[in-house]
Amino acid sequence: MSTIELSNVTKYFGSLAAVRDVDLSVGAGETVCLLGPSGCGKTTTLRIVAGLEAASDGDVLIAGRRMNDLSPSERDIAMVFQFYALYPSLTVAENIAFPLYYERTSSADRERRVKQAAETLDLSAVLNRLPGEISEGEKQRVAVARAIVRDPNCFLFDEPLSRLDVELRQTMRGQIKEVLTSLSKATVIVTHDQLEALTMADRIAIMRDGLIEQVASPHAIFANPCNVFVAGFIGTPQMNLIEASYAEVAEGEAELAFGDQRFRLAVNGASRALAKGKTMTFGVRPRAFTLAGAATAHTISGTVELIEPMGAETLFHVRAGEIDIRVVVPREIRISPGHVVHLACDPGQVHFFDAEGKAVQ
Ligand code: ATP
Repeated sequence: MSTIELSNVTKYFGSLAAVRDVDLSVGAGETVCLLGPSGCGKTTTLRIVAGLEAASDGDVLIAGRRMNDLSPSERDIAMVFQFYALYPSLTVAENIAFPLYYERTSSADRERRVKQAAETLDLSAVLNRLPGEISEGEKQRVAVARAIVRDPNCFLFDEPLSRLDVELRQTMRGQIKEVLTSLSKATVIVTHDQLEALTMADRIAIMRDGLIEQVASPHAIFANPCNVFVAGFIGTPQMNLIEASYAEVAEGEAELAFGDQRFRLAVNGASRALAKGKTMTFGVRPRAFTLAGAATAHTISGTVELIEPMGAETLFHVRAGEIDIRVVVPREIRISPGHVVHLACDPGQVHFFDAEGKAVQ
């Protein structure tokens, strides 16, 4: 069965722990995206799975077999890199067929498999052309076809779309997702593009400083980030994360105080677990705010400082004391800079984080 399992994987480069105690299981037919800021250890983790880098500690299992001491070729993995070097003097068909020359395949079988991979990736019309005679998108598809032409244990993709323009990326995301779904292999994709992760992954592993912070479905990561880092990392525009002090002022009602603002909110039992009077962080996504007609105890007031049209929506930067609050509203709402607005939000859309930055569910 095509599975990948990392158990307590750690990698040191000198004294730098690039990857720390990583546990990750990728099931057959599952796609997991490693997502995180530059230098967080995504590529190193992928290279350890591929056998291009040796783990300092921990185990790598592929299809249930311990791989630590096996070379990359012995692991039977197909990889697609950011720089998908195609052989310029070989035709598209010969480039796709290349991995099969290492296997004892008959030429009839080779031809059948190349034809099938080309059909899957819509390359049948360009099979006889050279890489110099096809588009960037087609080149990327040749790299993927070359990976799927074999029947490997699993797939690893390292920033596969980062060289393509925005439009092509969007098309390719869908195409690769479709191909992966049909192949039922364990797949790991490294990306720093959250849209890529949100659209292609069954689960996303968010990394920071060599650690996996959270592994969950795209929906769960977005809806229930486990800490302030993940909350701020996922979602565009970024979630508003506001440090405040928390106090209960009535049954089921809390007051969040920051700067000269006092903001009341209905709270449930879980958020009441926050220590009273202690600093905490509350998070509200920019689309979770609405504009209220007047200031009340349940609104935050601020002045519109900057307006960024985003097509169907508009992003307002609202200054509330020392805090810049991002608010996204439908473009029909027209407000000029300098206007005072009153922001309300559904209490169910507010995320609470304790003094250590951990989500209070
Ligand atoms: P990016 O998105 O920029 O590619 P990444 O999340 O993939 O980043 P890695 O390339 O895995 O991060 O690097 C993790 C850390 O390990 C970084 O601090 C990097 O500088 C360091 N590192 C990576 N490879 C080596 C190496 N061969 N020797 C020394 N340090 C390395």
